[in-house]
Order: sequence, then structure tokens, then C-alpha cells
Amino acid sequence: MRVGVLGGGQLGQMLALAGRRLGVETRFLAPDPQSPAGMCAELIVADYDNTAALAHFVEGVDAVTYEFENIPVETVNRIAEHSPIRPSVRALETAQDRAIEKQCFEKLGIPTARSAVASTLAEARAALEMVGRPAILKTRRHGYDGKGQSVIRDRSDLERAWVTVAGAPSIIESFVSFTRELSIIAVRSLSGDIEFYPLVENHHSEGILRFSVAPAQNVSTTLQTQAEQYARRILEELDYVGVLAVEFFDTTNGLLANEMAPRVHNSGHWTIEGADTSQFENHLRAVTGMELGSTEVHGVSGMVNVIGFEPNVERLREIPSVHVHMYGKTPAPRRKLGHITVTANDIDGVVKAVAQVRAVLARK
Ligand code: AMP
Repeated sequence: MRVGVLGGGQLGQMLALAGRRLGVETRFLAPDPQSPAGMCAELIVADYDNTAALAHFVEGVDAVTYEFENIPVETVNRIAEHSPIRPSVRALETAQDRAIEKQCFEKLGIPTARSAVASTLAEARAALEMVGRPAILKTRRHGYDGKGQSVIRDRSDLERAWVTVAGAPSIIESFVSFTRELSIIAVRSLSGDIEFYPLVENHHSEGILRFSVAPAQNVSTTLQTQAEQYARRILEELDYVGVLAVEFFDTTNGLLANEMAPRVHNSGHWTIEGADTSQFENHLRAVTGMELGSTEVHGVSGMVNVIGFEPNVERLREIPSVHVHMYGKTPAPRRKLGHITVTANDIDGVVKAVAQVRAVLARK
């Protein structure tokens, strides 16, 4: 069995490794010859609109998936003439555009922050009036890890913010006062079976995920069920096959959906060591039509991203129950170079180990 994957980053690399353990071959298409997935699987280096490369890419694959949501929809539509695309093209289109994503949440009765679209500065002013302050200006497309976002506290911040998005179609969203950020990783099989991993607690800084704890602590059954219901509605609405991540703000009024990712997700990396079946294996199981694997969790896991600098791996390895995942990328500011997972029987053990990992990473 062979799966074609559009994109070639670390998510692809981890899909390739999971594929090897499952007897599923992976083939990647990405423009960068240094793509991390190419260290573990076949990589076709080409732009996403290269007709000859696309023809080679789809030859002999059972299904095509993606590990990066900014794949041009035209590419995916061309591929869909030759091979099933999982998750669906509609899922990709929905997640690519924050305005469409918000409409999808609203249609499905999933609470989300108030927002309005803006394509000009005048529209942005009107949108800000409607949404209120503080607010966040976010580009509708191509934003990730906090890119293309600016906080607006005073009315005068808007013009400066508008310059930072360079006039790109955007949304203005009300600033949410949340108690914490949570996400759920869900997976739907080709036959429609759905499995969930427990809610994960995520800590961001400067718009980038820094560390996660899974399962999130102090989660009532009601909260977990609520998150599962919201994810289920999206999966069924989009006739979704594969792994879906939904990010939430936990507020005093319950969960507000922030955004979704139609792919394996950084807040699910802990599943490699912390669950019976990793998100990567379950994604491949789903897109190839296999039954899903168990999402049963073992103890508590902490996942810390390695961002910007090569860490002292020898030091990290001295920490008990540590699992080092380095992606082989060239260091650059804000770039995710790897992640470290720690596992323990209880939250105290994880909190201690996460602190140790973060202390080593802070020494650079
Ligand atoms: P996003 O790219 O939308 O996931 O935003 C990145 C991070 O910015 C989130 O994980 C939050 O920490 C923060 N953020 C985004 N939108 C809001 C909002 N409406 N209110 C408060 N914080 C936000």
C-alpha cells in the first residue's frame, strides 16, 4: 500500500516513520529539496503546479493526503481526478480560509469568537466597530504560528496592523479572555468510525506552541464530551477521512473554537509514546481504509517544542523518560527543529520533567 503526501515537513517525516511500522509506503511532493520527510521516504522535489511531477506523484498511490494546509486547491483538484484525496478537498478549503472556517463553526453551532471580514482599511474600521476592542487582525489565508496576526488595543493600532497584513483579505476577531488553550485530536475512518484522544492543554508564546500536557488536567467528562461533539460535527459535515485537530479557548462560558487543522497536529505529537496508536499511524490507517487503532492513553505525557536553536541533546537524554525527536532541519529563529516528549505515571512527574527539559532548552 502506498500513500502520496503533499508537503514534506516534520509532520510528513513522522507520517513516513509511522508508515514504515505499518507496512505503508509514503511518497512526498514538496518544493524544498531539504524537506525533512525526504530523510525517511521518497521525495519528489517540485512545485505544487508542476504537471509532470504531479503525474509521477500519483502513479501507483492508493490515496493522497496532505501534511500542510496551504496546498493550492487547484493541485488537489487535479490530483482528485486520479486518486482519492483524504481528508476531502472541502475540508482543505474550509481550513485554508479563516472566514470560511468561522462560517463552518457557526453553521454547526460550535461557539467561536465574534469576528468580521475586511478587505480594505475602511472595512477593517467597520469590522473593529462591530467586534469591539481588544481584537486581533488575522489574515484569512496562509497564517500559521501567529504569522499574519496583530493585536489591536486602541483604535490607532488598526492602521499599523493593516500595514503588517499588507492589505491581504483578513478577519478581525474579538480578543478572547481564556483560562487556557485546549485542543482535541480526532480521527475518522473511511467507513465513518470516529475515535478521539483526550483534550490536550497547550501553552503558546508569540503565537507558537511551546509545550503541551496530555491528557489536560481538570477536564470534566462534560468538557471532554463537548469537545468530542464539536469535532464530530465537523468530521461528519465535511465527510472527513483522517486526523483532524480542533483548537479551543477554554473560557468561563465554556469552549470557543479557535481554528482547526485538517491534518496531524503539533499538539498530538505526544501520542507517539503516550497512546496505543499515534496520530500519525491512525491518520495512515484512516486514509488507506484500515480500521482505526486504539486511542487508549498511557499515563501522562508532556511535549516541549525545540524552537530556533539546536539543543544540548546529551543533557536532554539525562532526563528520565525523555524521548528526543529531532527533525534534521537547519536552525532559524522561530523554526520548529524538534520536540521532546516526557512520560510519567502522574502529572507531578510530567510537570517536573517538562521543567527540566525547558531549563535545558533555555540554555541553548
Ligand atoms: P492562531 O494562529 O489563530 O491559532 O493563533 C495563535 C495563538 O494566538 C493562539 O493559540 C492564541 O494563543 C493566540 N490567539 C489567537 N486568537 C486569539 C483571540 N481571538 N484571543 C486571544 N488570543 C488569541
